[in-house]
Amino acid sequence: MENAASGLFAGIDFGGTKVAAVIADAHGNIVAEGVIPTLAEEGPAQAAERTCRLLDDLCLQHSCEILAIGIGLPGLVDRDAGAIVFLPNLPPQWSGFHIAEAFASHSHRPVSLLNDARMAALGEYTFGNAGGSQDMLFVTVGTGIGGGLVLDGHLRLGAFGAAGEVGHHTILPDGAPCSCGSRGCLETLVSGPALAAAGRDLMRAGRAPRLSELVAGDPAKVTATRMAAAARNGDQAVADAIRVAAEYLGVGIANAVSITAVRTVVIGGGLSVLGDLLLEPVRRVVKERVRMFPSEVVQISCSTLLEKSGALGGVALAVEEYKRAASNTSA
Ligand SMILES: [Zn+2]
Repeated sequence: MENAASGLFAGIDFGGTKVAAVIADAHGNIVAEGVIPTLAEEGPAQAAERTCRLLDDLCLQHSCEILAIGIGLPGLVDRDAGAIVFLPNLPPQWSGFHIAEAFASHSHRPVSLLNDARMAALGEYTFGNAGGSQDMLFVTVGTGIGGGLVLDGHLRLGAFGAAGEVGHHTILPDGAPCSCGSRGCLETLVSGPALAAAGRDLMRAGRAPRLSELVAGDPAKVTATRMAAAARNGDQAVADAIRVAAEYLGVGIANAVSITAVRTVVIGGGLSVLGDLLLEPVRRVVKERVRMFPSEVVQISCSTLLEKSGALGGVALAVEEYKRAASNTSA
């Protein structure tokens, strides 16, 4: 087998609306990348076929070949069977589809699967902002909250590959119903849509004049980025809304840190654009609430890979699987 150090690998991040693919070396240097729409209603076989064609095109354009493929999916996967179990935000026809086989029969390369948030954690740990730490909690805050956990130098998956679901532990026992079926989960209190809704409410109440200017009075244009700009330009109520959300996130992260004793926390996803407006309250709350070990050793930062953490995690996954297959072959 070809040496992994000199080869190229593909990472594919399946989302509800788009599929992002990168081709990179074992150090995470990207040589090619592309995005196509998921067109989820057409079904998984179609989406897999179009993604394989995208990889073929990228390889052709860049005169390269790949050694292995890592795929992330937004839900539960059976890694051993190479199959999708359940994707909450995609049509039911995706469940049970043997997606690894679909890719392998087209590309004749080893294919491995992971939940998308766990894959992004692996990407962040391998190529991003973990700073050589042996333990890391990755929290991605966007439409919802996902996460992944590295302990003792390894991504930990637990039963059903579900370890690290930091968005779905209870913060408020009698809180709002959550998409997972429980109530009062961290995700019900902190997310891109929840923050934007708070921004729109403040605008309608006349308490966010800067935000109103930034979106030209159109509530549909309220985003986390624009709320951050409004907060920095003097909208105190918007700044308070961001701080409250960030404090809840801090409570969730403090709980996770106390349970897992990670020293590195990396925050990714759409809300990481808030930067210090998010980080400062999170750091303060973690310092206040993590008491069972010295909280000053906990480093909390935002992702440096941003939206590429998932696809680059796929590359890290492909490298791992390729090395494992190579060592089995030589053994
Ligand atoms: Zn939940």
